[in-house]
Amino acid sequence: HLYTKDEVRQMVKDEDIRFLRVMFTDLLGTIKSVDLPVSQLDKLMDNKIMFDGSSIDGFVRIEESDMYLYPDMSTWLVFPWGADHGKVARVICSVHMTDGTPFSGDPRNNLKRVIKEMQKMGFNSFNIGPEPEFFLFKTDDNGNPTTKVNDSENYFDMEPADIGEDCRRDIVLALEKMGFDVEAAHHEVAPGQHEVDFKYSNALEAADNIQTFKLVVKTIAKKYGLHATFMPKPLSGINGSGMHLNMSLFTQDGKNAFYDENDKNQLSETAYHFLGGLMKHARSYTAIVNPIVNSYKRLVPGYEAPVYVAWSTSNRSPLVRIPNDRGMGTRLELRSADPAANPYLAIAAVLEAGLDGLRNNLPPVHNVDENIYDMTVKERKNKGIVNLPDTLHSALKDLADDEVIKSSMGEHLYQSFEEAKTREYDAYRAHVSDWERQRYMEQY
Ligand code: GLN
Ligand code: MG
Ligand code: MG
Ligand code: MG
Repeated sequence: HLYTKDEVRQMVKDEDIRFLRVMFTDLLGTIKSVDLPVSQLDKLMDNKIMFDGSSIDGFVRIEESDMYLYPDMSTWLVFPWGADHGKVARVICSVHMTDGTPFSGDPRNNLKRVIKEMQKMGFNSFNIGPEPEFFLFKTDDNGNPTTKVNDSENYFDMEPADIGEDCRRDIVLALEKMGFDVEAAHHEVAPGQHEVDFKYSNALEAADNIQTFKLVVKTIAKKYGLHATFMPKPLSGINGSGMHLNMSLFTQDGKNAFYDENDKNQLSETAYHFLGGLMKHARSYTAIVNPIVNSYKRLVPGYEAPVYVAWSTSNRSPLVRIPNDRGMGTRLELRSADPAANPYLAIAAVLEAGLDGLRNNLPPVHNVDENIYDMTVKERKNKGIVNLPDTLHSALKDLADDEVIKSSMGEHLYQSFEEAKTREYDAYRAHVSDWERQRYMEQY
């Protein structure tokens, strides 16, 4: 709902809101926020809140640092947790230049740009249903995160009740108070690991929701003395955390463009070509949907995370799975994405990949209905099945060679991303780890 200025002023009065939290997202997916006393409400609604863009990762240089925050009033909501100093309402903003033009280095503006491309191709919305997973770790006496979980439960286990369960229930309640439509919340496969699924929404809203979701999870966990992490693989030897993305394209008249009742899989031409794009560009959007060094420790065999570029209607091992739902629920589930991804960039990248499939009528190659992990290397080779990149370094190389996926970010974002991620990988490469000392110190 897009509130009018008067409606907002009224809500502020009725609910006795004292602070405004103005949020946006930087290149690396970190939420940035500015807190304003409620006296600044009119200034905010008039797009007059200025900030220093040079202090934000991937934004601008010092000499062109004045930027403006334009609030998207449809994202207005009041945080449900108590605040000693009065209630806080938050609103998500887009970043603009001093002359009023949208700043192309703002990931949210960028996603809007890619959505417009899609609309020019005749679709109304790209719908995303995310399945973010996370761990809850105990904290030590100083409040720092440990690697200890406080349960020994498993997938869908309900008993015995523990604080992890209570915490997750509280997370769901907070989300519902904030207007989220939570469809499922359950314990995941690994100890201390949880998943909360919320209803699909259009790409922009879904990305906003993912950011808000992470904030809610971290805030509530803290109240329980727990640390919530969306790091993709916090512990070796057990499952990591993914963020499966369920996606579908809807037409102007509200139909799911991926559904065709007459096809053998009940999938439309549009679905097959979109899938073709997801297959063709898989290695190059990986750097965006799995953007940190640690992401690649999750994408290994044996932990329910994908390793190969393939799709299937019947099993869960490939990169893209097509869940059983048809009709309005017809969708493609990308299983590689993880919650470290900047959701604005990740969704723009997979949308651009799919749209490229539609523009060029790409065929839906790499269909496998057998378990790819059981195939020999030769069998996979014969079927033309390739691996996902195995390091951030390798993923960045594929991205550098793919103009289509680079265009999903635009010039400014790509340059900043390339630089930041190369620095990140170089820092990792220069670090000598315990694993290496244990393995080599005595042997050599
Ligand atoms: N945690 C698994 C992953 O890393 C997914 C498990 C599941 O949802 N079935 O993707
Ligand atoms: Mg799930
Ligand atoms: Mg899951
Ligand atoms: Mg899933």
